Amino acid sequence: MADRDDTPKLCPHCQQPTDASANSIAHWVYTCRACRTAKAAAYYLRNRARILEQSDRRYQTHHDEIIAHRRQVRPQQRRAALERYRSYGRKWQQSPAGRAYYQAYLRSPAQHPKVTARRLARYAVSRGQLIRQPCESCGALTAEMHHDSYLEPLTVRWLCPPCHRRVHSS
Ligand SMILES: [Zn+2]
Ligand SMILES: [Zn+2]
Ligand SMILES: [Zn+2]
Repeated sequence: MADRDDTPKLCPHCQQPTDASANSIAHWVYTCRACRTAKAAAYYLRNRARILEQSDRRYQTHHDEIIAHRRQVRPQQRRAALERYRSYGRKWQQSPAGRAYYQAYLRSPAQHPKVTARRLARYAVSRGQLIRQPCESCGALTAEMHHDSYLEPLTVRWLCPPCHRRVHSS
């Protein structure tokens, strides 16, 4: 029985212990990753003109196929990327830090019903869902929204600033 050869494999280019993949080593290829990248870059630089010309020619002769392939593949890639981002978000939300952040968000003043109601009402005005009105008590043209109840964000009364102040002080 022959001993297993466990002497460290050296990269033939830099003579350092190699970090090639197990699969490469199984095929007696010991070039380390850094040397392989450097070799590929050097090859590209030496043959740049030819490589670019080749890819140009391929693009011209196979134009329709390439475009069809992109049309088919890009939406898939986009969907995959979106799904990846969403999974990052979910992972963050479920992490202790993410949950603490969300709890703080719920407790923050910005989530107060008053603030939320005003935000929703402003948004409804911007969408045309609520229409600006003159002051309901004196008819002044510049009126602001007043909520009788912040639990009904889209139920507002339009009041000019002085009338609005009177409503709040009475
Ligand atoms: Zn090397
Ligand atoms: Zn008010
Ligand atoms: Zn008024």
